[in-house]
Amino acid sequence: MQQAHALAMKHVVVIGGGVGGLSTAYFLQEQAREQGVELRVTILEARDRWGGVTSSSTQDGFTLEHGPDSVIRTKPAGMALFKKLGLDEKLVGTNPALTGSLIVRGTKLIPIPKGLYLLAPGRMLPFALSPMMTWRGKLRTGLDLILPRRAAGAPEESLAQFVRRRLGQESLERIAQPLVGGIYTADPEHLSLSHCMPQFLEMEQEHRSLIWAMRKRANAMKKQAQKSQQASGAVSGARYGLFVSCEGGLQTMIAALVTANSEAEMCINSPVTSLERTESGYELQVSDEKIVADAVVLAVQAQPAALLSKNIHPELSEDLASIPYASVATVNIAFKKSQIKDLPDAAGFVVPAVEGRHMIACTFSSVKYDNRAPEDGVLLRAFVGGAMHEGHLNVSDETMTTRIISDLRDWLKVEGEPLFSTVHRYNNAMAQPLVGHAQILKRIRSQEQRLDGFALVGNGYEGVGIPDIVAQGEDAAQRIISAFAEL
Ligand SMILES: Cc1cc2nc3c(=O)[nH]c(=O)nc-3n(C[C@H](O)[C@H](O)[C@H](O)COP(=O)(O)OP(=O)(O)OC[C@H]3O[C@@H](n4cnc5c(N)ncnc54)[C@H](O)[C@@H]3O)c2cc1C
Repeated sequence: MQQAHALAMKHVVVIGGGVGGLSTAYFLQEQAREQGVELRVTILEARDRWGGVTSSSTQDGFTLEHGPDSVIRTKPAGMALFKKLGLDEKLVGTNPALTGSLIVRGTKLIPIPKGLYLLAPGRMLPFALSPMMTWRGKLRTGLDLILPRRAAGAPEESLAQFVRRRLGQESLERIAQPLVGGIYTADPEHLSLSHCMPQFLEMEQEHRSLIWAMRKRANAMKKQAQKSQQASGAVSGARYGLFVSCEGGLQTMIAALVTANSEAEMCINSPVTSLERTESGYELQVSDEKIVADAVVLAVQAQPAALLSKNIHPELSEDLASIPYASVATVNIAFKKSQIKDLPDAAGFVVPAVEGRHMIACTFSSVKYDNRAPEDGVLLRAFVGGAMHEGHLNVSDETMTTRIISDLRDWLKVEGEPLFSTVHRYNNAMAQPLVGHAQILKRIRSQEQRLDGFALVGNGYEGVGIPDIVAQGEDAAQRIISAFAEL
């Protein structure tokens, strides 16, 4: 009886213990229960801790996010996972007093004008009055209102080509590069607009002018917000803003995922060094141990996935290897409130590359979320590196921090030395979806589908944010368990 049970049981190995691997393992077990499949799950993580790039810590009453700090609410997979993990009551929204974000120009921090969304202004008056661009640049942006649309089916453009054509060079340098390029820490000259921001191409095709389309979008959103407020009878608006985190930082989500996977075999310090196909499934090498599995999930960056899939599917491996990654670092810096007298009520600021500074963005962590610093403290977090500034990473932690503080003095009038600071480096962690990514991704997904019991989850594929990766994990789990259930 026991032997029959063991034969029927399927073994899935998940490689990688970041959000992607941990959530896939969770969904595998959920799906197995729902579909009546007997399942054993093993999660193998190379490092000595769970979470991958996601981790938080506390120091002297400050809560530091080392990697991601927020989950966007509008992509449902992230919020659905929080609910399943029982974290929906422990979520924290961004501070309702936030007035938005800022953009650097010289030594000034300039509020992003109302109605401006990522690339284009939706309201002309606040944009026209903002000192973020020259009059010449603003007039060129306005030309978008009369420029013709590009023929449908024309070759793919990079973010830079698209913005330069519709809104001009200054819009690219002062708005699109820091705001959109900053999300991907990418060089806009190569970033795929159709993969990263397809809505702007659709706007051009549908409305011709981006400014006009943005205006319609802003009006529609306003009406929608009024309607839902009337429908709910609410007086105080939505419970959260666009982004949420957890009490105690996103480490809380990792801890909940680890607990939710308690029935899985979970191994840290276990780098997988090779993966082979066998007649009945897969064989993995971990240190001097061989592990056999009926199915494997590679929840790692595309580069290690390329190495691991080399002997299984060389063409797939080549496509995976062709997805570039950029490196970044985060620098958390704690101050006393009295050292920064005029900290704006903003989430933070982005720095256009043309400014030639040492950081690409800075989050006012203790303003963005409550309870991230003691009553008399301020926590800031700077981003360094990315595809356009990898050279800024080739310095010691000390030099990097000194340069960041020196930049901050210009914009925030910081006095004295910080209470403490920490640097966290993420080498080859930020996937760069470049022009042509859609074709590569299509090939990768079709090659993956043809391999039984094989799935790829990670930020090299459909999206780089946590909800994108969670959604991929859920899809992968459904596919693997449904195939087992059909046997
Ligand atoms: C600094 C920073 C800030 C970010 N901010 C946000 C944000 O605010 N919101 C948001 O939604 N997204 C953000 N992102 C993006 C998002 O965090 C990541 O895309 C996502 O967390 C990646 O999760 P993952 O599990 O796919 O990969 P990872 O977290 O990189 O995990 C992959 C794991 O695989 C392991 N591994 C690799 N090779 C092997 C092997 N051979 N054997 C075993 N294990 C292996 C690695 O050690 C790692 O732990 C940010 C990313 C960074 C770096």
